[in-house]
Amino acid sequence: MKELLVISGKGGTGKTSITAALADLAEDKVLLDLDVDAPDLHLLLKPEIKRSQPFVSGHLAVVRPYDCTACGTCSELCAFDAIEQLEGVPAVIDPSVCEGCKLCVELCPEGAIDFPSRHCGDWYLSDTRFGPLVHAQLLPGQENSGRLVSMLREQARDLARAQGRDLILADGTPGIGCPVISSLSGASLALVVTEPTPSGLHDLERVLQLCRHFKVPATVLINRADLNPALADEIEDFCRQLGVTCLGRLFFDPVFVEAVVAGKVVSEQEPRGETTLQIAALWRRLAEELCLN
Ligand code: SF4
Ligand code: SF4
Repeated sequence: MKELLVISGKGGTGKTSITAALADLAEDKVLLDLDVDAPDLHLLLKPEIKRSQPFVSGHLAVVRPYDCTACGTCSELCAFDAIEQLEGVPAVIDPSVCEGCKLCVELCPEGAIDFPSRHCGDWYLSDTRFGPLVHAQLLPGQENSGRLVSMLREQARDLARAQGRDLILADGTPGIGCPVISSLSGASLALVVTEPTPSGLHDLERVLQLCRHFKVPATVLINRADLNPALADEIEDFCRQLGVTCLGRLFFDPVFVEAVVAGKVVSEQEPRGETTLQIAALWRRLAEELCLN
């Protein structure tokens, strides 16, 4: 089984639109949205949710007001200032600030603080017109996205094995943080989508360093290359120096927006224009790199 991860050094490079087009072109795959902090692959693929599960991670302190004697011990102890204690009134813990360290739970003289698991979001197994999709939604302000990414990848692998599918096609998180590191672990190939801007080149350098560190082969696609052709040349030179394959350039094309307005992905748009043909060629190159043919 092969895993293709589409990532970018930052948001807004067109990574998800390109992933969605590849989802149309690739066969026998499980789709996976690992951009758990800002998932939007589902907006393009319109999944029908078949199964939904809570994502639980860590714990949260919760005061039982009727058992609290308002002694103030917990608010004095909490290093994160998560507890509000007004005189004569039961303590109140702000769940968005509580780090779940359990100190107040252990030291409350009345044993008045519960410590339930923290519901951080939900994850889903869905059907789409391009095949099954594993995806998730974190609740606002919740973290642990690296752990959620690892869990989603395991779910996608289990599903691919159970259904005999050869490929997992994943939309990764932008940037180089913890979720990207979790995404890269075990990937067969990373497609890094970049654009020819100074920050694009800088972000590309950092993402390629990360791929090299985790020994994940990387390829590069320059999107909106006509924004700055000279810088696009520089990016290609940079890739050549590193021995990284640059799979080509896409140009600014309103078809991306037109497809979204029509509720489609780019490769579904008729008549097929230059961008659609280039994405089809991109997929053939990626399939070769992944030895899928
Ligand atoms: S330590 Fe316990 S009893 Fe005291 S204020 Fe906090 S929750 Fe209430
Ligand atoms: S669990 Fe830790 S962080 Fe949360 S309220 Fe208690 S002392 Fe503060």
